[in-house]
Amino acid sequence: MGSLKIENVKKAFGPVEVLKGINLEVTDGEFVVFVGPSGCGKSTLLRVIAGLEDSTSGRVVIDGEDVSATPPAKRGIAMVFQTYALYPHLTVKNNMGLGLKQAGTPTAEIERRIGIASSMLSLEPYLERRPAELSGGQRQRVAIGRAVVREPKLFLFDEPLSNLDAALRVNTRLEIAQLHRRLKATMIYVTHDQVEAMTLADKIVVLNAGRIEQIGGPMELYNSPANEFVAGFIGSPK
Ligand code: ADP
Ligand code: MG
Repeated sequence: MGSLKIENVKKAFGPVEVLKGINLEVTDGEFVVFVGPSGCGKSTLLRVIAGLEDSTSGRVVIDGEDVSATPPAKRGIAMVFQTYALYPHLTVKNNMGLGLKQAGTPTAEIERRIGIASSMLSLEPYLERRPAELSGGQRQRVAIGRAVVREPKLFLFDEPLSNLDAALRVNTRLEIAQLHRRLKATMIYVTHDQVEAMTLADKIVVLNAGRIEQIGGPMELYNSPANEFVAGFIGSPK
């Protein structure tokens, strides 16, 4: 289970309204990509879904339950950031297991889940290493693994490939697509890269200045853009 409903979500920082009434439905197992130019509110929307930021008004509903007042750790969500956000002093294994340990998960269960995730992400050889001893691509796989072991209802990715070079970007993108097929989990993925959006998404949400310009499948947006903004964004290479 991992359906999501966003109902008229608005978010202001002081006088500046960054999200201007977002409405969106995501069905269980869907891969949804948020695209839009820098500063349009993509990260803010993800953070509101995750509960890292309170919305000014509106509701976030996960599996039919209003989670607007639910703390982030209780929403069944795991988030992967552009900057990996790993603990430098912990091994790969302990980075992946820390959240579960803090939640009181039994050690044997933590080990079992780390075993599965590290196999899926080809991380077995690196479990005893620290982040400084890994490449950027490996670090991002650890961050993804840390999300996987939590068995979330909803994965949120915020530009996870932005810090990787071109070859690793393709590789890691394919791994994320494979993960989605294997886990059948709901994934929401933020990018400003049209190629990532077109190749990964079941459904693309085009954001511009805090509003949704259009929602649709990749080919639908490509063939029938609702306006010039969408046409320019999806149609032209970066
Ligand atoms: P995106 O991820 O699409 O690049 P963001 O959601 O990060 O955009 O930011 C949208 C707008 O909100 C930007 O103008 C940004 O400067 C502003 N913003 C984001 N976070 C904060 C904050 N904590 N305080 C004030 N302004 C913020
Ligand atoms: Mg952002």
